Amino acid sequence: MKCSKCSRKAIGVFQQKGYCSEHFKQAFEDFVFNFMDEKKLISSSRVAVAVSGGKDSTSVLNVVMKYMDKKGLGKPKALSVDEGIKGYRKETIGNVRDFCDKNNIELKVVSYREEFGFSLDEFLEEFNTHPCTVCGILRRYLLNKLARDYDVLVTGHNLDDESQSVLMNLVNADLGLLARQGFRPGLLYSDKFTKRIKPFYLVKEKEVMVYSLVCDLGAPLGSCPNAHLAFRNPVRDLINEREGKEPGVKRNIVEFFLSLKGDLVGMVEDDVLQECGRCGEPTSGNVCKACLIRESWEKGEQLF
Ligand code: SF4
Repeated sequence: MKCSKCSRKAIGVFQQKGYCSEHFKQAFEDFVFNFMDEKKLISSSRVAVAVSGGKDSTSVLNVVMKYMDKKGLGKPKALSVDEGIKGYRKETIGNVRDFCDKNNIELKVVSYREEFGFSLDEFLEEFNTHPCTVCGILRRYLLNKLARDYDVLVTGHNLDDESQSVLMNLVNADLGLLARQGFRPGLLYSDKFTKRIKPFYLVKEKEVMVYSLVCDLGAPLGSCPNAHLAFRNPVRDLINEREGKEPGVKRNIVEFFLSLKGDLVGMVEDDVLQECGRCGEPTSGNVCKACLIRESWEKGEQLF
């Protein structure tokens, strides 16, 4: 296949067109920049990017950095969470450090051990629980705290992630979670919740992978050793199989969801936010889940 912009050999497909490496990069960035403009995702310089060091988050940091530079908005700040996953997280955070050093981006790294007193691996050795349940709650909690002084928190979620989440929430009949999805997710408005945004909302995972390679972002391609346990794996396999047979299925799922989102939001009631009785962070209960997890560790009692 030839590049659709020049006579060179295409190295990848983006939005159904083949491109050489130079034009792939350009088509990718133009598409994401247009999406960010159209949805007005970034309009100030107070932008934080959640970066794990994998291909999605390093790519989104790279694109947001270029976008902000083009708009004269300065540099984003990078935020990383070290869960304490042996043989995995050290390498990805090392990649974030290298990227940030090279591009003069301020990076803040916090760990579960410093914040909660245990690493994820230690917690899993003590309790027989699902790693992603604990990990997801603690990571969201820390990122929300770290991003408090910023207008938006950027994440690297892509079209694959979003189409899987839509289907999972449908399968679980979870209208509340479904209504909260989107490129600007959530319903709650509070000074204590920094708005999240997803510039890669309409970009496929494979496209992000090619972008990270052509930009030589150095992101390790391996995944978390607990990833095989993720609840979304069967849904991902199902959607990938359908996409292989009928290209466009992922985009259809997400576009269909977006066309219903306004109605869905009107059908769910917003949680009433209060302050956690232990740490003061926002929660819909009396004590937030992160504090409950910390207490279960301290008492040696299984929570989930
Ligand atoms: Fe955490 Fe699960 Fe993701 Fe691993 S796969 S980083 S345990 S949420």
